[in-house]
Amino acid sequence: SGWSETWNYIDGSWIEGNPPLMGPRSHASWLGSSVFDGARFFEGVFPDLELHCQRVNDSALALGLKPTLQVGEMVELSKDGAARFKPGSAVYIKPMYWAESDGPGVIAADPASTRFCLCLFEAPMAPAGSAFSITLSPFRRPTMETMPVNAKAGCLYPNNARALVEAKSRGFDNAVVLDMLGNVAELTSANVFMVKDGVVHTPVPNGTFLNGITRQRVIKLLRDAGHQVIERTIGYGEFLTADEIFSTGNYSKVVPVNRIETRQIDPGPVAARARDLYWAFAHA
Ligand code: PMP
Repeated sequence: SGWSETWNYIDGSWIEGNPPLMGPRSHASWLGSSVFDGARFFEGVFPDLELHCQRVNDSALALGLKPTLQVGEMVELSKDGAARFKPGSAVYIKPMYWAESDGPGVIAADPASTRFCLCLFEAPMAPAGSAFSITLSPFRRPTMETMPVNAKAGCLYPNNARALVEAKSRGFDNAVVLDMLGNVAELTSANVFMVKDGVVHTPVPNGTFLNGITRQRVIKLLRDAGHQVIERTIGYGEFLTADEIFSTGNYSKVVPVNRIETRQIDPGPVAARARDLYWAFAHA
């Protein structure tokens, strides 16, 4: 109870709800050896599903796990799973790998014990016209030397979560998290863009934040449509004076910011264009 409609593919069968996956001796439940990805099924389409399935395999390798499914198999399973939901549902598609057993020195995972689950659950899309507020987080992104930031790993998210909780405690919807040098990296579970004088700017991937699949897609779509998009180092001060700010991520796609700190910003034409371009791509 408390969960939206959920279907899981585990060890060859489909199971509804939230069945237990691991025990107290499972490596992942103790030492965090789990990776996941997030894709979407909505309005009958699965945009960039292959890229999300590829990324969860790459994340598994980055954590020393052994990816056991081919991308094509995962895509087919995702489509089987999505077909179990009532027509019109919007679904979040979450493939996961984790380690059951200890490897060298107990703290490392045994790659031979890697398991897979594909979890899909009903998750409505943010309505068109939604917008959100942001503030600067006191927390920063780890570096490649301090965490496996090249993986979409569960063990990275407590840092994002504390940034989100801290922002919400001050009345904001989300937080801008800086990298170790103090430049803008990303939001707590999405990438971030700004617009100034008609030009789009977004932080250049420097190994501290996720180079999102939606981010890369939106950059390409905007450029193909003739917009100038610059990936570069950006300080928070530039966001404070931006004409527009918007986020990209698989969950909500493209959503504009309507307040940064105490300043109201009207959601603008470039964010609206990016969202329209994404929808056109998704349905093409
Ligand atoms: N950054 C973080 C920390 C995220 O969790 C996500 C969501 N996966 C993103 C960025 C956006 O990435 P994507 O577009 O690949 O979903």
